[in-house]
Amino acid sequence: MREKTIAVLGFGSQGHAHALNLRDSGYEVLVGLRPDSSSVAYAEQEGLKVLPTAGAAAAGDVVVILVPDEIQPRVWKEDVAPGLAAGDIAIFASGFAVHYGFVEPPADVDVALVAPKGPGHLVRRQFEHGSGVPGLIAVHQDHTGNTRELALAYAAGIGCERAGTIETSFKDETETDLFGEQAVLCGGMSALVEAGFEILVEAGYDPRMAYYECVHELKLIVDLVHEKGLAGMRESISNTAEFGDYTRGPRVIDAAAREHMRESLRQIQAGEFAEEWMRSASAGGEELLAMRAQAEGTLLERTGADLRSQMAWLEPPSGAR
Ligand code: NDP
Ligand code: MG
Repeated sequence: MREKTIAVLGFGSQGHAHALNLRDSGYEVLVGLRPDSSSVAYAEQEGLKVLPTAGAAAAGDVVVILVPDEIQPRVWKEDVAPGLAAGDIAIFASGFAVHYGFVEPPADVDVALVAPKGPGHLVRRQFEHGSGVPGLIAVHQDHTGNTRELALAYAAGIGCERAGTIETSFKDETETDLFGEQAVLCGGMSALVEAGFEILVEAGYDPRMAYYECVHELKLIVDLVHEKGLAGMRESISNTAEFGDYTRGPRVIDAAAREHMRESLRQIQAGEFAEEWMRSASAGGEELLAMRAQAEGTLLERTGADLRSQMAWLEPPSGAR
């Protein structure tokens, strides 16, 4: 990997973290961006060489696809495929585009997955602190016979090997990743938090108290779960909270809710979710923008913004860059 030129396409959440960590690991890195990207200045200020996407892809022996999943088919076709040479390796941080066949690499290149199990700003921050974010690696196509070793070397370069990697397949990474974000981490959590907030408010309680209870305190609980698991979290809460947890939680996530979760998994496995999302994105992305605008205007968000503006102890939000 040290003898190769690595072209990191995209400088967003994952892109900036991979490029900077690889550089700091002593690898040769180029960044590929659209010339009008707002990230060009930032990447250059970090001392990285930036080229237009197609130029970077052509110059790289290792091409890392860190543009958004829904853009990958177009970037692959227009910017990556024309510059690929036999024996090059394409690395993805998400199995999505390859697993569902939206990107079809030629037979004479290696194709690997190195997916950190964390957002980009953590991939960078943990690396700077001398640790790393765990990762998944997988091989989709092994033309040279070196794909697995190159994926491991890449994972080492971005710091994942400091935490450890699990070897999997593009299919399992894609399906578990989508299920996790839909049913638990993003979709399930957001819907649970919103329902809890709205039910307290409609019952006449102060929205600020509803926000503290159902949104703000989530972090305290999640931090305990992160450090000690569910059982460890329960050692820190009161016996009253623990009794309510065992007896009431399963009534919320009941058999019907589990059936909805299974149905989400089925739609993921059948490729139905991927088709729906790609159709929505290629229609111009307005559906996502409309849902985002609506979600930004809720009483929960307005209450939270007001409360957080008074939390002098809060660190600035940790964004993508
Ligand atoms: P972001 O949206 O944060 O960043 C996308 C980057 O791609 C930006 O720098 C953007 O620059 C650039 N870009 C967009 N369109 C183009 C284009 N047509 N040509 C060239 N560059 C373009 O993406 P993420 O980092 O979130 O996602 C990248 C990959 O990492 C995805 O496969 C995702 O699934 C995966 N992943 C993401 C995680 C996360 O926490 N975010 C976690 C694990 C994996 P600009 O728009 O300025 O041109
Ligand atoms: Mg994920």
